[in-house]
Amino acid sequence: MIFRVAIPTPLYRLFDYRPPIYGPETAQPGCRVRVTFGRREVIGLLVAIATESEVPPDKLKPALELLDTAPVLTPDLFALAHWAARYYQHPLGDALQQALPVLLRQGQPDRFQHQTLWRASATADIEALSARAGRQRELLTLLQEHPQGISTDALRAEGGNPALLKALSEKGLAESFEHQPALLHANDTGLDILREAPLTLHDEQLAAVNAVHQAQGFTPMLLEGVTGSGKTEVYLQAIQHCIEAGKQALVLVPEIGLTPQTIARFKARFRVPVLALHSGLTDRQRLDAWLWAREGSARILIGTRSAIFTPLKSPGLIIVDEEHDGSFKQQDGFRYHARDLAIFRARAHDIPILLGSATPALETLHNALSGRFQHLRLTRRAGNAKPPRFELLDIRQQQLDAGLSAPLISRIREHLDRDTQVLLFLNRRGFSPALVCHDCGTPVDCTRCDARMTLHRQPPHLHCHHCDRQTPIPRGCAQCGSQQLRPAGSGTERVEDRLATHFPDTPILRVDRDSTQRKHALDQIMDQVHTGKPCILVGTQMLAKGHHFPRVTLVAILDADAGLFSADFRGMEKTAQLILQVAGRAGRADLPGEVVLQTFNAEHPMLKTLVHAGYDAFAREELRLRRGGHLPPFAHHTLIRAEATRQGLAENFLLSLRQLSDQQQLLPAGVQCIGPFPSLMEKRAGLFRAQMLLQAGQRKPLHQALSVLIGLMQAHPEARRVRWTLDVDPVDS
Ligand code: ADP
Ligand code: ZN
Ligand code: ZN
Repeated sequence: MIFRVAIPTPLYRLFDYRPPIYGPETAQPGCRVRVTFGRREVIGLLVAIATESEVPPDKLKPALELLDTAPVLTPDLFALAHWAARYYQHPLGDALQQALPVLLRQGQPDRFQHQTLWRASATADIEALSARAGRQRELLTLLQEHPQGISTDALRAEGGNPALLKALSEKGLAESFEHQPALLHANDTGLDILREAPLTLHDEQLAAVNAVHQAQGFTPMLLEGVTGSGKTEVYLQAIQHCIEAGKQALVLVPEIGLTPQTIARFKARFRVPVLALHSGLTDRQRLDAWLWAREGSARILIGTRSAIFTPLKSPGLIIVDEEHDGSFKQQDGFRYHARDLAIFRARAHDIPILLGSATPALETLHNALSGRFQHLRLTRRAGNAKPPRFELLDIRQQQLDAGLSAPLISRIREHLDRDTQVLLFLNRRGFSPALVCHDCGTPVDCTRCDARMTLHRQPPHLHCHHCDRQTPIPRGCAQCGSQQLRPAGSGTERVEDRLATHFPDTPILRVDRDSTQRKHALDQIMDQVHTGKPCILVGTQMLAKGHHFPRVTLVAILDADAGLFSADFRGMEKTAQLILQVAGRAGRADLPGEVVLQTFNAEHPMLKTLVHAGYDAFAREELRLRRGGHLPPFAHHTLIRAEATRQGLAENFLLSLRQLSDQQQLLPAGVQCIGPFPSLMEKRAGLFRAQMLLQAGQRKPLHQALSVLIGLMQAHPEARRVRWTLDVDPVDS
């Protein structure tokens, strides 16, 4: 018997071991094994049990220990990770690891943590304690109030002193027992699964919910609904059916969308266990949630990208909210796209999947327009909310005051005078994106990146947003020694500053990564917004998504041109999505909303289409251009990225790869190789980067080409000095 084990390494292969001494009969694929690997001990996953190995028997090492008697990874997750490893051409050992919670990767048992609870013994009588033992009497009374048992932490929180438990138990008055944490389901308690009545759906919502209910087996659906159209209500009612049928629902949301507000909406609706897999969980809590999902007692799972690897006992529905969001794509190592894995998973489970967005990714829209996905649409806002009015504000002839034009400032004043709130969007945090010498024009650059240092004022320092380097503000110019270093351009801190002088009596609330670092800082800001009193919100894309601001009537995008002329062919799509997401914060309740876009390109055809004809018209036009240019979704891309500590190394590495494959005609027909080129920001965090693009009309030859290239790269003599990675279906270049 040979164990074939997947080990978390960058190597594209499995490793053979002899079975361990104890318990090999119970081994199954999906169980963890502890093995020696080089000089380390690591935990790998058993992938297969073979009868023979290519390694000579005397060279085979025994596995040290079989950690599980049953597979930790359910067969469907095992299959998902397998498929993803193949599709993204990523080493299987690493892909499988990422499908496991951290504690399981570290070898902890796949069991709930048992908790020790205390209770009063059945015969306990308070009179057994003398009247002078007041603290013990208090403690016993507390225990008697919790006949189900109580933890020492909870006892302490209620004012009891756990140190006295020993005394009570020695007198036979109290006892401890082990308790497995459990989740209560409304069905078990006989209560209705709903905590609150669902809203009465408008006709478009009703059509969408019905479509989900009627879906038989695997049915991919795009729910394209303008912001404020009530997509969440559609999700809730679709989930309701799924729960009533005894199934579980998995909801993926963008990183920025997993807010307490979102979770609260699900919990307010359902009396079944709703678990949020958010970054605030400890590894232990994460494992418990994973186990509850696997045993089926967690009924609704909400999480970000990595939640796609949550095991489900009885999956009924998958929802991907804001499916176009970039955070669903992992941007390093195992570069999977959670939306695409979700589609694979829904197919494997044979269940419906609902992809929701106001601004669907062109890939998804193309699938809907071509009939591969059902296309459900919500074209109107729910309730009394009207769509906001758009205006392109031409700032070509305008003096800008920290990025604010005079017409915009007077517009802000009008809205504040009407006692409503204003939201200003600028996707640049810090005070200023550059600090420039007034005498010779030299900016202060990051020494490790081809990038400017951002000036921050709170507290004063320079910060590189690409490699995280932070430095004090230099006294003078490194080039000419002049002391005249001045900020150029504005970030959110500077806008906040200027607004405070224009509107001294109005609270200015800045929302960006810096202002919300402190725990609860964002909650406090949101509480202030939700008082409804006039205020100006200034923020980055943290403000763009999910939030519901009923009193915001003016949304202004200070720099609508950012991204308009990007070198990335997706630049326009991303700009459009961001603009509409931000705009969607305006006028979400009874008050009409207005959206102002400051631009130097008021005549830009795509910008005009977007604001006057809407996302759909824009997207169809953009799809037409992509089709003409043979770009995704009409072609498939894979990027080979390489980086090295010396300039030129990475590019030469890719070049020799290309030459090798050209000479020997290794690439299948239909696969085009473009590049190599230095990356847009060639130097980042001290590494020089280059990339080469592979493009093909079909996936199959592209995958074949990649296998060939991986082989070449692994055998390449320079591979020790160049780090390379693959990005299948990249979302940025
Ligand atoms: P979206 O997610 O599409 O941006 P939401 O689901 O957040 O929109 O809904 C926007 C607002 O409309 C919310 O306040 C929600 O309670 C309300 N709403 C949704 N559906 C209805 C409905 N059928 N009747 C009345 N109000 C609704
Ligand atoms: Zn200078
Ligand atoms: Zn840097």
